[in-house]
Amino acid sequence: MIDLHLHTTASDGCLTPADLVATASAAGLTVLSVTDHDTVAGLGEARRAATRAGLEFVDGIEITAVDDGNDVHVLGYFVRPPDHRLAAFLSEQRAARVARMRHMGERLARLGVTVDVEALIAGAAEMPGASVGRPLLARALVRAGRAVSVDEAFRRYLGTGKPGFVPRSGPSPAEVVQVIHAAGGLASMAHPGITRRPQVLGALVAAGLDAIEVYHSDHPEDVRLALLDYATRHRLLTTGGSDFHGDGGARTIGQATLPLEEFDRLRAAAFGPEARA
Ligand code: AMP
Ligand code: ZN
Ligand code: FE
Ligand code: FE
Repeated sequence: MIDLHLHTTASDGCLTPADLVATASAAGLTVLSVTDHDTVAGLGEARRAATRAGLEFVDGIEITAVDDGNDVHVLGYFVRPPDHRLAAFLSEQRAARVARMRHMGERLARLGVTVDVEALIAGAAEMPGASVGRPLLARALVRAGRAVSVDEAFRRYLGTGKPGFVPRSGPSPAEVVQVIHAAGGLASMAHPGITRRPQVLGALVAAGLDAIEVYHSDHPEDVRLALLDYATRHRLLTTGGSDFHGDGGARTIGQATLPLEEFDRLRAAAFGPEARA
């Protein structure tokens, strides 16, 4: 089983990279990728744990781009983590996340909802290079009794347009494809079935997108088939994974998996001569 979309404590997941790999191994995965938001901080620990467990590991990342005020997630695979341009780009992304988190904390405070945002930021800083995101805030709201679940915290406070929400600005999807390519990676649009912006997919393809995430926990069968058809027509590679966050939410490891032949094509594109052209 191949799951190329997993989160750890390096961003908004609840399992450390080593614990995630142990859980993945127990769940029967043979190939996995860790794709934390705007950071590669978990990759070293995850790769070491995967090697010890006899699993194939793919360096991954999920980068947030912004199109017309909407978040667009772009996955990068087979990136070479020491790339300096990528590192500088990611550290800007993370700084913007910290600033946004503080801003969301202020908005919540104005509603009379107090969350110790600095403690969340400091907690993330314990892992060098880790990123913060709304799920950390959502879990804090649940702990404070302000919401019964992370889902409800998003519905009431943190989702797009809700009173604690702060719109973000950031790089365009096309810029993110360039950054991933410059780092030697392949770019895949994450969960197009959630983002549901066909014009963004078109712009990404024009920018040299390599793949689309066909298989995802939140893609029903008809969406998956439509995306597979899109990939064939546009000669795109395919990726897939559960988007497991280890937070007790609905998604489980291996809930969405990439077929072996499709993974073989992805890996060949990353390591074959044409990938270096
Ligand atoms: P951020 O990186 O701060 O924009 O937070 C985005 C992350 O929050 C996503 O990657 C999901 O893990 C999570 N998320 C977004 N919307 C929801 C929602 N409605 N319910 C639960 N989690 C969500
Ligand atoms: Zn997430
Ligand atoms: Fe995502
Ligand atoms: Fe994700």
